[in-house]
Amino acid sequence: MVDCFSGPGLTPFEDALEQLLVQVRPTTKTQMVSLNKALGCVLSQAIVSPMAVPSHDNSAMDGYAVRSADVNAQAQLNVIAKVFAGHPYEGSVGEGQCVRVMTGGQIPDGCDAVVMQENVVVQEDGRVACSGGIKAGNHVRRAGEDIEQGATVLSVGRRLTPSDIGLLASLGIAEVPVYEPLTVAVISTGDELQKPGVPLEPGQMYESNGYTVSAILERLGVNVVPFGIVPDELDALRNTFSQADDIADVVISSGGVSVGEADYTKQVLEELGRIDFWKLAMKPGKPFAFGHLPSSYFIGLPGNPVSAMVTLHQLAVPLLRKIRGESPAKRTRLQAKAMADFPKRPGRTDFQRGVFSVSDQGELVVVPTGAQGSGILTSLSLANCYVIIEQDRGTVTAGEAVTIEPFDSLLG
Ligand code: AMP
Ligand code: MG
Repeated sequence: MVDCFSGPGLTPFEDALEQLLVQVRPTTKTQMVSLNKALGCVLSQAIVSPMAVPSHDNSAMDGYAVRSADVNAQAQLNVIAKVFAGHPYEGSVGEGQCVRVMTGGQIPDGCDAVVMQENVVVQEDGRVACSGGIKAGNHVRRAGEDIEQGATVLSVGRRLTPSDIGLLASLGIAEVPVYEPLTVAVISTGDELQKPGVPLEPGQMYESNGYTVSAILERLGVNVVPFGIVPDELDALRNTFSQADDIADVVISSGGVSVGEADYTKQVLEELGRIDFWKLAMKPGKPFAFGHLPSSYFIGLPGNPVSAMVTLHQLAVPLLRKIRGESPAKRTRLQAKAMADFPKRPGRTDFQRGVFSVSDQGELVVVPTGAQGSGILTSLSLANCYVIIEQDRGTVTAGEAVTIEPFDSLLG
């Protein structure tokens, strides 16, 4: 473990993420939720299909359900019934007989294929003649063709999407076992901070991290409890952190983790639990803290607004996903052509902000969003992707290929 007060080196981003992930355990708290409340919840058990889908053979076309042997013998067929979706024919279809069937209608016993209505001539006596041959199974959707009974349809750790909810409904499942949603306390530290809506006193600035952090967490689907601004004072920090610990599964603060300032945070957190300060080889976002309070995890983000958002998104979100039982997801990283220089010094992984698009030539291209300082929120606000420049790489010059990560639904 690297301690920023004694350790000399910076920890590479990927190593830090790996080392942090092994320090958190998935929650064991589960509950049943009804389907209309399940969107975004994480499954605590795999879902096994209680039935076959479709549940019975049905027609893929408007036409006639037939015995394929009759059609191939060029027989004229008696139409003995009409079948609509939801209204099956209970009888059995014998030789020389067929049934008018609409799309989705159940294939009656005895039939093994459907002839499209376009390929049928209805005779004056009402019998039908089919043109051409047919194979058993033609235009029939087989029972279980989509999902077999007993098949695993959704795995444990799956965060439910709108189509998953539809799938569960289509299986007749009305409630699902999920992990309880996490409660996350959000704290902004700093004597200089003022909340928006109140005039600034000399030396003050408006606080934004509480807003950005809460917004990302809300998109993530956790319960956010805002604790507002706490001054850099021992008693205030102690009270707030212990109140937050009482009610939250995870406490996230911003500010107060850089050298010098961290003395207070360090002292308070070491009284309450245990904490490690990290110097990360990533830019923005060098100072980062992670620890354990008596009944929650603690994550300390840097104070600079861009650093706070990037470390939350890149480091804290994977931790939160693991804690809430979600299976790890791979981030989408693509190669794009740099259309301008991206200045950089080797030594840290840069998460610069850019705008990617597809050029008229069909090439994936990316430009920077202006100045990239860790306090410049417009660099994020204007962007639609990270431009990730590897730790050992220097300036990327226009024309070179560079890695981008399009913003996901938490940032976009
Ligand atoms: P710190 O990590 O506390 O030293 O803060 C680093 C920089 O981020 C300072 O310029 C702070 O004023 C700024 N900062 C800290 N917290 C916030 C916040 N909640 N909103 C906006 N800026 C902040
Ligand atoms: Mg501060």
